[in-house]
Amino acid sequence: MIIFLGIAGAGKGTQAELLHEHYQAAPLSTGEILRSHENDKRIKNYLREGVLVPDEVLLPIIEKEAIKRTKAKTQIIFDGFPRTLSQAKWLVHKINEGKFKLSGIIHFQLSREVAKQRLLKRHRYDDTEDIIDKRFAQYEQNILPLVNYFRSEGFKIHDINADQPVEKVFQDLKSALGI
Ligand code: AMP
Repeated sequence: MIIFLGIAGAGKGTQAELLHEHYQAAPLSTGEILRSHENDKRIKNYLREGVLVPDEVLLPIIEKEAIKRTKAKTQIIFDGFPRTLSQAKWLVHKINEGKFKLSGIIHFQLSREVAKQRLLKRHRYDDTEDIIDKRFAQYEQNILPLVNYFRSEGFKIHDINADQPVEKVFQDLKSALGI
């Protein structure tokens, strides 16, 4: 299991796809999974508002998807998860229980300005300026305590500069993972 942390627009999805093409790794994008549950009105409303989906809705979905992917492939790439301290605690518990095996935590770093320029280009329905700003604010509020929590539990965080060409970011990613 590989954990991708980083602001929306940092290229986590692109890097997850690259890993998927070259290695036995299956991306698990929380946002994508949630968007595939859009017929659930409650979930769609959270996405439209750009607010986090509550744990009691999200965690069972994540667990089910993770088990499905573990059966099919060796590695899971968590993209967009965990995003809160309680989600990180849930994950660390699963790792400590031996349910998930952790290969690395990657933190993709990018300024808000560059991230926003990138997001406004991709024309997704929840990529309006308002919603983007909310997602950024959440990232800033949530990611730092989360990184500190992982460190305090003895996990190493690999920081990667995401403001580089895709291939260079991928190289940095591979060296962080030792592959
Ligand atoms: P993303 O595709 O990662 O930008 O996520 C899009 C939306 O999905 C977010 O604005 C949240 O509403 C929801 N979401 C994604 N990841 C999480 C998470 N870990 N916990 C709760 N909600 C999430």
